[in-house]
Amino acid sequence: MRRPFLLGKERSMADAFVCGLRRKLVRSVWKLDLSRRKRGLEAVWKLYDISMDIHPAMRVWKDKDDKRPVFETVSTHAQGKSHETRLRLDAHTGTHVDAPLHMIAGGATIDAIPLEKWMGPARVLDLTGVRDSIGRAELEPHAPQRGEWILLKTRNSFAEGGAFDYGFVFLNAEAAAYLKEAGVRGVGIDALGVERDQPGYPTHRTLLEAGILIAEGLCLKDVPVGSYWLIIAPLRLIGVEAAPARAFLIGAGDGNGR
Ligand SMILES: [Zn+2]
Repeated sequence: MRRPFLLGKERSMADAFVCGLRRKLVRSVWKLDLSRRKRGLEAVWKLYDISMDIHPAMRVWKDKDDKRPVFETVSTHAQGKSHETRLRLDAHTGTHVDAPLHMIAGGATIDAIPLEKWMGPARVLDLTGVRDSIGRAELEPHAPQRGEWILLKTRNSFAEGGAFDYGFVFLNAEAAAYLKEAGVRGVGIDALGVERDQPGYPTHRTLLEAGILIAEGLCLKDVPVGSYWLIIAPLRLIGVEAAPARAFLIGAGDGNGR
């Protein structure tokens, strides 16, 4: 059932109570934040934009020219008109999300996934020591929890320049099976893909068939490991298998990667 933030006649007393408490909590943290800022202290809540810049020289999948964004200026002030740009973007450009149709014939498209599924509690895990792929053994110490987003911070986050890294760190098939077992809500990675060099794309398939969401192309370099609230906002594209998205984390930056 959808739970609107504002009170409605149909809401039960218990719902109203919880909603009121939540609003009080948000208000008090907001006030604390304001007073800390006024005193020149660090804010309680930090906002981390974890989205890639989109431009023609950005990193694209396997450096393919047909994956490169094209910005075409269609009118300018010099022409006595308003400035307007036409974009040509692959659906998997930069920070983006994959829908089941990407790997499963007849699978759901982006517009079939409710917006609230793209947000929720998230943990940024430190996997910067992994050289090749993330397996079950690398995830087990972090004890992935049911319903949370797992964001994989790897050495990919520290790659410089716009060239594609063919040896990027990825999530392997056994790790995907483990995350399915754990019942996580979604997986995000700091590479343009969640897997490579696995015939049949078992990582994508396992996750998408289990209803686990996938976010790719996250920028986690400046994000301390720890717990956050994640918001991903995919474009409302109709009938396609992926969508570019703005993604950000809100949190205290507590460094608690568990
Ligand atoms: Zn993708």
